[in-house]
Amino acid sequence: MAIERTLSIIKPDATRRNLTGAINDRFERGGLRIVAQKRLRLSQETAERFYAVHAERPFYRSLVSFMVSGPVVVQVLEGESAVAKNREVMGATDPAKAAAGTIRKDFAESIEANSVHGSDSPENAAQEIAFFFAGTEICP
Ligand code: GDP
Repeated sequence: MAIERTLSIIKPDATRRNLTGAINDRFERGGLRIVAQKRLRLSQETAERFYAVHAERPFYRSLVSFMVSGPVVVQVLEGESAVAKNREVMGATDPAKAAAGTIRKDFAESIEANSVHGSDSPENAAQEIAFFFAGTEICP
């Protein structure tokens, strides 16, 4: 197993409820280290580009509107098999289907307002990290 990095986003439903610390605690207890983090408001254009892969999905416009509706916290998480580990800590996309003890089970409001984003492969993780962070902003 290798040390990897993955991109995480704490979504507007979670920042609105002041859950950044509670969610970060889940990452750290799961063996993931937060090696970069910043809070920002996504522009419409940035949210559209980040989710361009979903442009043909029926929920795309709604997802983009949700993601610009409040601050997000973008983060780089590092650890053993970080991509898969983070997906495990996050839980399934739909909180109704997420396992007990996962972030989405415990905090998500809906399948859309599901509190966190996490890269789904090491390849996408590298792209998504570069989308938000310069190398100099990552401090392992
Ligand atoms: P993820 O990798 O688990 O985040 O899931 P996806 O890549 O499939 O979807 C990206 C994001 O789109 C999800 O995290 C949700 O915020 C949103 N989403 C996914 N499926 C649905 C859906 O059926 N309806 C709505 N409204 N949003 C969805």
